Amino acid sequence: MYQALYRKYRPRTFDEVVGQKHITKTLSNQVKKGEISHAYLFSGTRGTGKTSIARIFARALNCLSPVDGSPCYKCEVCKALSEPNCMDILEIDAASNNRVDEVREIREKVKFLPTNGKFKVYIIDEVHMLTDSAFNALLKTLEEPPAHVVLILGTTEPHKLPQTILSRCLRFDFKLISPTELKQHLISIFNKENINYEDSAVDLIVSAAQGSVRDMLSIADAVVSLGGGVASYSNALSILGATNQEKLFKFADQILSGNLGGAFEVVDEAIKGGINISVFAKDLTVHFRNLLVAKTCENCEGILNLPAEVVQKMKDQAKDASEEELMFLMRNFSEIEPELKYSLSPRTLVEVACVKAISGDGSKKN
Ligand SMILES: [Zn+2]
Repeated sequence: MYQALYRKYRPRTFDEVVGQKHITKTLSNQVKKGEISHAYLFSGTRGTGKTSIARIFARALNCLSPVDGSPCYKCEVCKALSEPNCMDILEIDAASNNRVDEVREIREKVKFLPTNGKFKVYIIDEVHMLTDSAFNALLKTLEEPPAHVVLILGTTEPHKLPQTILSRCLRFDFKLISPTELKQHLISIFNKENINYEDSAVDLIVSAAQGSVRDMLSIADAVVSLGGGVASYSNALSILGATNQEKLFKFADQILSGNLGGAFEVVDEAIKGGINISVFAKDLTVHFRNLLVAKTCENCEGILNLPAEVVQKMKDQAKDASEEELMFLMRNFSEIEPELKYSLSPRTLVEVACVKAISGDGSKKN
């Protein structure tokens, strides 16, 4: 049976977690020293490891002989906690259980001692989705937590949490995973799975994942299954619907040199090549944004998230344009994005944007 990469490579120890070293180090030290807080807040974008780390931590807290602060998975408690009907680690998705009753139920249940280990751990995901009355109920638990209870609250939107909750939690901010870390992780998985891959496919998948391990692995799954076990650049392109970088450079060349006919030709090639015109328009905005970054930012490599040779090409292309021009072009192509969805003729919208880009508002100094 084929198992999705994301599930198969879910980390089981702190060492296996991709990125977030600042967090895994603190948590494993807490386990080692036995200095546990009663409430934690894990805040950060989806796919950055909040739930995975919460699960590891919940097990490590209870494990009889933790290995370097991570659960051993061998002792009787670790085994009991892996049973599906285990009630000592409870995961609650606040997005679907935001009613006050559910939180009251937690308050009722926290009185009972854990059946296996030392701690009963509640992992409440998307906690910002709770209703006000549910927050108040949760707060009561946070105010006087029983010694055997640990709450791990996860959120993608910490600013929506009341101060009274924030002030009672030990907070950890999860960062996006860097392209380098994502890339290493993906390549190591491809090697373990004996999946042949093209480097350019890996770069494309990593860049589309935007800092999320989960997104990266689900894209990789789709690319590999389309390719019958191989990760090729062309399959990554068709899965992502992304425009080939070369086309974007070619298009920008035409616009920057004021060649309207040339720009129309690239649009035509893109459509005939099966690229969705709305995706193409979005990619153009991103491309001009990337050029602007390449031109203005000292550390553009870190921001652009692209292979080194592409970054160099960006810098070269950006040389011929002024900052104002690039700002204008980025705005010009982003303005049509909301209209594209509803337009009967998205191609014309893009072409009108080309005309504006070349003749329009101060893009070219005649
Ligand atoms: Zn154990």
